[in-house]
Amino acid sequence: MNVYDSLKIVSILQECGYRVVDVPEKACLFVLNTCHVRKKATEKVFSDLGRLRLLKTGHLAPKIIVTGCVAQALGVEVQRRAPWVDIVIGPQALHKIPLLLEDLEQKRPCLCLEGSAAEKFKKSFHAPLPEGRVTAFLAIQEGCDYFCSYCVVPHTRGREFSRPIESILEEAHAFIQQGVKEITLIGQNVNAYCGMDATGAMCDFGTLLRRVAPLPGILRVRYTTSHPRHINESLLHAHATLPQLAPFIHLPAQAGSDPILKAMNRPYTRADYLMAIDKLRTVRPDIAFSSDFIVGFPGETEEDFQETLSLVKSVTYAQAYAFKYSPRPGTPAASLPDQVPESAKEERLARLLDILRKQQQDFNRQSVGKVVSVLFEKPGRHSGEITGRTLHFQSVIIKAPQSVIGSCLPVRIIELLPYSLRGEYTPSTA
Ligand code: SAH
Ligand code: SF4
Repeated sequence: MNVYDSLKIVSILQECGYRVVDVPEKACLFVLNTCHVRKKATEKVFSDLGRLRLLKTGHLAPKIIVTGCVAQALGVEVQRRAPWVDIVIGPQALHKIPLLLEDLEQKRPCLCLEGSAAEKFKKSFHAPLPEGRVTAFLAIQEGCDYFCSYCVVPHTRGREFSRPIESILEEAHAFIQQGVKEITLIGQNVNAYCGMDATGAMCDFGTLLRRVAPLPGILRVRYTTSHPRHINESLLHAHATLPQLAPFIHLPAQAGSDPILKAMNRPYTRADYLMAIDKLRTVRPDIAFSSDFIVGFPGETEEDFQETLSLVKSVTYAQAYAFKYSPRPGTPAASLPDQVPESAKEERLARLLDILRKQQQDFNRQSVGKVVSVLFEKPGRHSGEITGRTLHFQSVIIKAPQSVIGSCLPVRIIELLPYSLRGEYTPSTA
């Protein structure tokens, strides 16, 4: 979501005559788009601000804007701890940046935490995406109504808002015209999407997918993040019938133990989650899964953690993310008794990551020797190489000229790498 918002900020600023520079010393304006989801991310903002303070005294005396969820949650504290910041602005108010920059002479420092998601989305991307983009995120939703007991997002991003279908399609068209071949629809719970179409009817996520996937020029559609609660018939139908819809879903489980899921205020049981996975596998047998897990949630015992491990083993993920529980100010879980000691969190994280890494390797190993379709996105790390992704979101590296970027080609997978695959172009099967 922040990657999307950051590009939007660039687009808004380009319209006011700014351009992106390659080194900090050349900048007359810095925008820090921040994340508050775990403590480490928040701390990073303050250390970055410390570094920027030094540049502030340089000859360009750059202006500094802090936005994102840290701005929304800790606006006044940001101003107190870093008085050299010029503008603190919440993530729903990004469209106001040009106005606030204009007024800065009179109104500094500026704190702007009021904005509405509807206003924010009225402002579409007008300035071009960075050169050569093959894939793009497209936000269809802002905020979240779930209030999981550990999470700051509903507090910083506000209530769930679904963008009208026409505005989503307009942005998709703009991306396609710039050469984008793959769109990832993003939001906190995309499959809870409920947005208006041109006739005023409310549409669910499956319906939105049926409108976006067939757009001429689009080769692939993905979405993230989805919620296990909303795997409904309409979404299953989309997976069964839309060839552009990638058979890869990020479906965060968070934990495998029912008492912990309940304490997390996640509205499903382990059995519900496994049933959702089964339904998706039934309509699309080659579907692969990714997930998020939190270890060391307050009250999590070794037995609870074992339930998470057994869930992971029964699903078998293509890849997944795991985090140590991080108590966030203002969330109910932060004041629960039975906080798990750091050492136990670390130990559980290591065990979980070990299994997830092996599952990713096993999943990737199955592709070796096969010919898979890869959409090439960017140059590789070594010269003469380019990288792209399979339908299952595996990263593939091949030797090929840069002109191939933007094409979707059949590739024979020849080698398993630690987190990716090496392949070679197989024109004969094209
Ligand atoms: N809306 C998405 C995820 C948003 S946050 C969903 O519900 O799945 C991304 C991930 O960060 C979450 O899935 C969760 O695993 C993790 N996360 C959120 N709050 C956290 C916290 N307090 N400590 C550790 N991880 C957290
Ligand atoms: Fe946070 Fe839960 Fe909402 Fe995801 S569903 S953003 S984890 S509150």
